[in-house]
Amino acid sequence: MKAFYADEQKRHDPKAFLSSGAPQPNLEKPERVERLLAGARAAGCEIERPAAFGLGPVAAVHPPEYLDFLEHLYTRWRRIEGASEEVIPNIHPMGRDGSYPASAVGQAGYHMADTACPISAETWDSALWSAWSAVSAADAVLAGRSSAYALCRPPGHHAFVDIAGGFCFLNNSAIAAQRLRNEARRVAILDVDLHHGNGTQGIFYARSDVLTVSIHADPVRFYPFFWGHADERGEGPGLGYNLNLPLKRKSGDEVFLDALDGALRRIGAFAPDALVVALGLDPFEGDPFGGLSVSTQGFARIGAAIAGLRLPTVVVQEGGYLCDALGDNLASFLGGFEAAA
Ligand SMILES: [Zn+2]
Repeated sequence: MKAFYADEQKRHDPKAFLSSGAPQPNLEKPERVERLLAGARAAGCEIERPAAFGLGPVAAVHPPEYLDFLEHLYTRWRRIEGASEEVIPNIHPMGRDGSYPASAVGQAGYHMADTACPISAETWDSALWSAWSAVSAADAVLAGRSSAYALCRPPGHHAFVDIAGGFCFLNNSAIAAQRLRNEARRVAILDVDLHHGNGTQGIFYARSDVLTVSIHADPVRFYPFFWGHADERGEGPGLGYNLNLPLKRKSGDEVFLDALDGALRRIGAFAPDALVVALGLDPFEGDPFGGLSVSTQGFARIGAAIAGLRLPTVVVQEGGYLCDALGDNLASFLGGFEAAA
């Protein structure tokens, strides 16, 4: 399988985030890239550098106000006397339909959902190249390849149209899906990350041309808490085009694969022309988040089941954090997918 990744994606190096109110080392470390590259190579991928596409494919999903914010906020933030090294918000609007603040502090609160997406000097560049990896993978599929893998880092599925959150800035899976829409009439996004793909859901919530399906740990007691519940089905023309399949904490392979059956049935009924897999490897039993208990072998079965859809497929990397098996889990998923494709 062809894979896409640029070294600029490694520069973003967030230092901290708040976990239960306490500052902790940020888990979205550049070192993840080395493990994922090793896993992709073990699965036979040739790694290619994505093209630099400019803002076009990103602006097809994210509004200019937000892109301007991401590109320039850090410089403005550092002009504030006594400001922190990384941008971390400390105030949020109760609603988002009021006036737009002019100050960097106000805008940080407006555009950042939580403290897990600190912005530093390198963030914009890394996020942009990460998005371009997704666009390149989508283009490879549009050019006739049956599948392609985008090693996206930083990840994207918690990023809404104009809100960063949960280690995410630009929604790579949504950007890939929108790119595929240039030629595909209907696109499905299947999110198998441990955490609900709330940003992706939000972006397409009122649309019927992109089906969003997410399997994840039940948000009733897990991040992102306010989205990912089974009764969120879409709105307006998008009603019936969003499916959430929350799982009990510590669910293992059999429960996950059972939910995946339902997800694949729904995707089949949508009859899409192309598929985006938002591939989180953090449902793994040894992942530091410890939310679900999928095994390394389980990822091969997940990949094989998804390949059974026989759809042109863009695999976009989402979460999955440092543990000994991180690379093996990617190799297992991609190997299972290719063997069954
Ligand atoms: Zn995750």
